[in-house]
Amino acid sequence: MQKTVHIIGAGISGLSAAVRLANGGYKVAVHEATQQAGGRCRSYFDAATNLTIDNGNHLLLSGNRHALSYARSIGTEAGLVGPARAQFPFVDLASGQRWQLDLGDSRLPLWVFDEARRVPDTTLRDYLALAPLAWAGTEALVGNTIPCKGTLYDRLVQPLLLAALNVDPPEGSAGLAGAIVRETLLAGGQACRPLIARDGLSSVLIEPAVKLLQERGHSVQFSHELRTLGMSGDRVTELDFGGGDKITLAAGDAVVLAVPPRAAAALLPGVKTPTKFRAIVNAHFRVDPPRDAAPILGVVGGLVEWLFAFPQRLSITISNGDRLVDMPREELAQAIWRDICKAAGVSGELPPWQIVRERRATFEATPEQNALRPGAATAQKNLFLAGDWTATGLPATIEGSVRSGDRAADLVLATR
Ligand SMILES: Cc1cc2nc3c(=O)[nH]c(=O)nc-3n(C[C@H](O)[C@H](O)[C@H](O)COP(=O)(O)OP(=O)(O)OC[C@H]3O[C@@H](n4cnc5c(N)ncnc54)[C@H](O)[C@@H]3O)c2cc1C
Repeated sequence: MQKTVHIIGAGISGLSAAVRLANGGYKVAVHEATQQAGGRCRSYFDAATNLTIDNGNHLLLSGNRHALSYARSIGTEAGLVGPARAQFPFVDLASGQRWQLDLGDSRLPLWVFDEARRVPDTTLRDYLALAPLAWAGTEALVGNTIPCKGTLYDRLVQPLLLAALNVDPPEGSAGLAGAIVRETLLAGGQACRPLIARDGLSSVLIEPAVKLLQERGHSVQFSHELRTLGMSGDRVTELDFGGGDKITLAAGDAVVLAVPPRAAAALLPGVKTPTKFRAIVNAHFRVDPPRDAAPILGVVGGLVEWLFAFPQRLSITISNGDRLVDMPREELAQAIWRDICKAAGVSGELPPWQIVRERRATFEATPEQNALRPGAATAQKNLFLAGDWTATGLPATIEGSVRSGDRAADLVLATR
């Protein structure tokens, strides 16, 4: 008889595990607590801007091979779009200076040898000083590993690591930062082409996976929150969804728990999880971007960090945003709009806007919190963990989520 794997949580981690297991011959049943799949990576209709927006602007890079392979497996790789070359325009709002980082299209970081392609006013020696990140341990601090000041830091290292770690870089885990640098900057321009789900996160990364599963006869249930995991010996034997809604597992059935850390800790007492989180702030403004607007603009010297140009909309991201979580919304929108006007060269009154503050956007990528990330295997032989917060070796990212889902799925497949 075909064995069933129950996937708890329909975020990217759960969906990637589900698709891999479905392809591996298992029957898959996905159980999602909310009415929508996608978790922290989702789109929705926003009445304030009258647009479908994403909960956060998500940037992938062409070197995110697990994420791209997941998109390929659900037939939507072409929905991840970006410039042909790994070029990143930047603006410094304090000085008004603009420049473009051009990482080229090589598999090697040859761009650092070319003064015209690297960050203005930086020398080769500045880049060589970043080398210790490449072999740093996860317990080391970025601040103790590389210089956290100077032009290269302000204009490239800080924006890159802030976006990747979602903490102030000096307090971040040098090991996690090193993984990012190894897989992006050190892997040359080929691995650094920026990619965006232009038509929205849900339509590119989420809904096609749900549709594929359903069309192949697997089940995806919404508003189906797991309340208790029933165990017997070293196995999960029952899933209790409350109100008498229970599923008894047959021998050979398995469970992938792909929920956020707090939910995992409640369902699996004793499991180690990160306990501290950081916010990300996104703001969306309904306005036609200037015709020459870059799809992604790095912004330094202001409040805004990244500016994204979408059809009918300019959107921004501010990482490590806890300081902005309680700021009055209108005041925050005005401050962000002022930065956008300078960065994008637009003007005018505040257009229709929306601010999305994800308070627990990611776990805190510090050495202390990184040490609390568990692996995928558990004391229960048929229960596996997935999630961006599990020990993926990466900070909380789509790439890390897909890796975690793939790894949990592979462990299930290996039990056969
Ligand atoms: C604002 C923002 C911006 C980001 N930007 C980027 C970016 O630019 N690039 C990048 O790579 N990453 C980015 N990330 C990170 C990325 O979104 C996450 O790493 C990823 O979405 C995590 O997926 P997940 O499946 O591990 O967890 P989640 O998305 O949290 O999914 C867990 C799912 O489990 C469900 N659930 C919880 N409890 C239960 C239960 N008891 N029963 C059933 N279901 C349950 C939840 O409802 C949820 O759907 C960003 C995140 C945010 C919030």
